[in-house]
Amino acid sequence: MERTDAATLVYVSYGWRDFGTGHLDEVCDECGFDSRCAEFDVDLRTAIAALCHLAGDSRAGSRPEPGTWSADEYVAHCLDQVGEAISVIDNGRPEPKAVVSGLEDADHQVKSLLSRVAGTDSHRQIDVGGPFPASPAWMLAHLLHDLEHHVLDIRRGYAKLGLERVAGRTIER
Ligand SMILES: [Zn+2]
Repeated sequence: MERTDAATLVYVSYGWRDFGTGHLDEVCDECGFDSRCAEFDVDLRTAIAALCHLAGDSRAGSRPEPGTWSADEYVAHCLDQVGEAISVIDNGRPEPKAVVSGLEDADHQVKSLLSRVAGTDSHRQIDVGGPFPASPAWMLAHLLHDLEHHVLDIRRGYAKLGLERVAGRTIER
């Protein structure tokens, strides 16, 4: 993913592998996400709850450094991703994105999306013009990875802000 607005560059490396499960699985050695272990109905809403909690922090509007998004910016991106996943799964294309007005709305819409996906073939192929077809299961995995990865990004950002101008000692082992 690449995003360039407000002179900000954010990169996340996404990787999909064929582990012999019959479809590509998404695994990230930075945040530990592994789509083979995902329980979408629980994990997606847990990730949204974590974002909700983090978004309530008084530092949510602060960037930890000029080139790193604030929590508010990460949350806006996550809402965008929820909208895109809904559009791809429901309409077979990423645009126009479903409108998601906030994290509470994201939770409602994801809950409803999960029930719609449960009633269909979650591995049906959707051609979104990428290097390989998507599927509802693939979209949910990718969305979950995005949300969980950015929960970690926000936590890192807060830690960085918390360490600013505070004296301390570090050791290396
Ligand atoms: Zn990750």
